[in-house]
Amino acid sequence: MSGAAERTVDPRMADADLRAWLTEMDAVALERLYAAADAARSATVGPEVHLRGLIEVSNTCARACSYCGISVHNKAVQRYRMGREEILDCARRAKDLGYGTVVMQAGEDPLLSGEFIAGIIRAIKRDIGGLAVTLSLGERSEDDLRLWRAAGADRYLLRFESSNPRLYARIHPAAHGHPPVDPGAAEVPRVGMLRRLQELGFQAGTGVMVGIPGQTWDDLVSDLRTFQRLDIEMIGVGPYIPHPATPLAHDFDGAAEHGQQVPNTVLTALKMVALARLLVPDANIPATTAVATLDKNNGREDALKAGANVVMPNLTPIKYRALYEIYPDKACVNETAEQCHSCLAARIHSVGRCIGTGFGEAPKSHRRSA
Ligand code: SF4
Repeated sequence: MSGAAERTVDPRMADADLRAWLTEMDAVALERLYAAADAARSATVGPEVHLRGLIEVSNTCARACSYCGISVHNKAVQRYRMGREEILDCARRAKDLGYGTVVMQAGEDPLLSGEFIAGIIRAIKRDIGGLAVTLSLGERSEDDLRLWRAAGADRYLLRFESSNPRLYARIHPAAHGHPPVDPGAAEVPRVGMLRRLQELGFQAGTGVMVGIPGQTWDDLVSDLRTFQRLDIEMIGVGPYIPHPATPLAHDFDGAAEHGQQVPNTVLTALKMVALARLLVPDANIPATTAVATLDKNNGREDALKAGANVVMPNLTPIKYRALYEIYPDKACVNETAEQCHSCLAARIHSVGRCIGTGFGEAPKSHRRSA
């Protein structure tokens, strides 16, 4: 294997090079990786950082993901579900703040019916206008997905979290009509679902956590290869942050005993952001809230310098914010939408970048529809 000075940053780099970059700890060598990713970002998606206004529409969830603080098992959570007018008010706020996209995110909430969400998408498109609509509502039926696409939804986010079927099965136990996942399967179920979303005409986004107990460096190489194989439009990477009220916070898989455990750090996430940018150069890549949570001072800026080009200011009404606690001590829980906006604008300008206009679609979306 080559040393850090000669190691390639070419998009066609071999698995051994990906693994070597992931385990690299030399700061000077890593600057070379981040600079290459930043150059790829500049050449493909340019200097603009796109703002996606996040609306956390419901923290009710029927699933039992073992890492998640709002899973069905956490009886201590006070549940909420926003009403239609509350959601539309947030979308209007997004428009007023100049955002090109709203993201409606929720747990897998059976009471967010297909028609309820479709009605909101139509109202955003017809009555507000000028906004791309992204949905992040979990694994929904084909009927719902078709309905939402027909209503005008542009994008769908579905993180697979890990491409290792054994790890995926452990953190996504059977619940609410979803059968157990075969840990020996060739690929995780959400990869097939992402292909289906692309076939339905959505721009599809996905992502992973780094540092899940039991996750190895080879798992992260496989995650990167999965992004590349899907030629995915959006890639989110954040460190796993344990929530004390979840089973995974008290789980241990033994990978650490063999020196293979990936650390759940900002550093690992930044390396993944940079490598994702090099392998899928024209994807949209957010500086995630999880990175900002572990490094509130510089996390977003460092991600922007390592290849990211999107941030997601939170538009959720303050009274609901703290209740959407997938992991603890989340960044930006107490700031109003306006405070979030000015803070993020200042951070974007501080790294010499500008705020994007328009929908901020990944260039590959235009290639596909051409
Ligand atoms: S990760 Fe999503 S689907 Fe899983 S329990 Fe949490 S909110 Fe529900």
